[in-house]
Amino acid sequence: MTAPYLSINDIRRNDERYFALDSAMEHFDYKQDTLLEVLTVAQKTFGYISHETVNYIADLLKVPASKVYGVATFYDLFTLNPVGDKRILVCTDPACSIAGAHQIVNEAKERINSQENSNNTYTIEPFACLGLCDQAPAALVNDTAQVEISLDDIDALIQGSANFSRIQISGNPRVMTRLIGEIAPTDLNAHLSAGTFNALKKAVEETSPLEIIEEVKNSRLVGRGGAGFPTGLKWEFTRTAPGKTKLVVCNFDESEPGTFKDRVLIEGDPFRVIEGLMISAYAIGAEHGYIFVRGEYQTAYNILMDAREKLFKANLLGNDIMDSNFNFDFEIRQGAGAYICGEETALFEAIEGKRGHPRSKPPYPTTHGLFGKPTSINNVETLANVPDIILNGSDWYRQWGTEESVGIKLFCLSGHVNKPGVVEVPFGISIRQIVDKFGGGFRGEPQAILIGGAAGGFINPENLDTQLTNEALKQYGVPIGSGVIMVFNTTVDMWKIIEDLAHFFMHESCGKCTPCRIGTKQIYNLLNKVNNNQGTRKDINKIINLGDTMRTTSICGLGMTAANHAISFINNFEHNLNSI
Ligand code: SF4
Repeated sequence: MTAPYLSINDIRRNDERYFALDSAMEHFDYKQDTLLEVLTVAQKTFGYISHETVNYIADLLKVPASKVYGVATFYDLFTLNPVGDKRILVCTDPACSIAGAHQIVNEAKERINSQENSNNTYTIEPFACLGLCDQAPAALVNDTAQVEISLDDIDALIQGSANFSRIQISGNPRVMTRLIGEIAPTDLNAHLSAGTFNALKKAVEETSPLEIIEEVKNSRLVGRGGAGFPTGLKWEFTRTAPGKTKLVVCNFDESEPGTFKDRVLIEGDPFRVIEGLMISAYAIGAEHGYIFVRGEYQTAYNILMDAREKLFKANLLGNDIMDSNFNFDFEIRQGAGAYICGEETALFEAIEGKRGHPRSKPPYPTTHGLFGKPTSINNVETLANVPDIILNGSDWYRQWGTEESVGIKLFCLSGHVNKPGVVEVPFGISIRQIVDKFGGGFRGEPQAILIGGAAGGFINPENLDTQLTNEALKQYGVPIGSGVIMVFNTTVDMWKIIEDLAHFFMHESCGKCTPCRIGTKQIYNLLNKVNNNQGTRKDINKIINLGDTMRTTSICGLGMTAANHAISFINNFEHNLNSI
């Protein structure tokens, strides 16, 4: 027997929590592209997204239920089955894994099962990187980050009373203006007094948009999210693209295991990033922008919402900003747990309320971006560098770094170092120097250092004096990427780490193209075989061949780089093949 059809009014009468969903949709003006936000409200209101909720949202947003269902099933933070009132997501990616995350998940599960959990109070799940690798192992209890959780204090984790995350940044010389840890991120007046928005003032009062673009081009600033595209050139392409409406987007979806620098920037100095976004909008001729925040970063999302409200009240958003002709506002959109949304076109799809499937390129975002408009999309760190460049000039910025790797970079130190955290230094420092000077030295004897993130590669300890520059790392086939430096000491089973990373890519592959969808699964299976002592040299060769095929035939960067870590390990650590 099929369930009786319930009208919207029947559903509301049966469960008044639907009024919360109504008011969310009304707030978003029933715009179809806000589907992710609406589903997030549903997940938080009901604890899961039922088929009834799917139909309810579909009716009111006037989209097919199949679309709502498709989006709800794509993102990891949405569940279609009930979860506990306390949903505990424990990060099991490498930095947390080597700090004991798997044991904590198992122990906590046992503890929960032995306690009275008849009302389904708790759910505990392993989860992909939470961007808290400097305070591993970490977990999210509902929306709240809990860090440095331990086997000794599982109850604190379950109850959500473990340590809360902290932010810090170090570096020497301190070149860029950073107010992290000095001024509360909510205190706009203090940020204004400290000089934030002086660069925007200089831009709108004294500098033409074309001069801004020229200055950024001369600075040789390139994207800090990993791809390294010249920022000024991207702005120029967007400005000169056909079409009156231009858009700017801040990519705050850092999900690369080992990367947490953008979280630190936004949680500590949000107005500087917004200022960078506004300068990019002024240069390009955009009046509207978006900041896309990964769903796991609830604290940062709240800080940005607060910052936006305060900027409107201070007339620093809206029309005629600083009594100029510059008009600008931006929306803050939240992801829901999908690594692929860090890819720029997948991120556009998410903002448009769809599954995060990357688009084929060309056309590129500078001509056909968000909502089909010319769009400049920049990473958080890239935008955070812009105000100092505008205030001090491109010559000043170019003095830092090396000829090929210009400027200042944030690096994320994690794993077996004594003081994990974010470090900001000019390009050119060596791996050993950065760990000794800012990371408090290695913990134990280093065995391998992951550089550039899960899509990066491994450096052998013999090469610790290698400079952190694109040109120096090239000889090992390793990119700077998003600035990850994750150290593994000799206590770690590296093949297990390689398998875990392969599992990560298999899980995060969006499935749109065959080489990546099938290739990531095959690589994971082969590594699983190796770890079960059944692997052969033939299997190792298969991994290399699959990686080559994926690099040349996948649609997006995820598939192109998903085998990098495994191939890099095979190539740079030959002695690990002896037992195979
Ligand atoms: Fe999706 Fe992977 Fe293809 Fe990218 S490469 S589109 S993540 S299946």
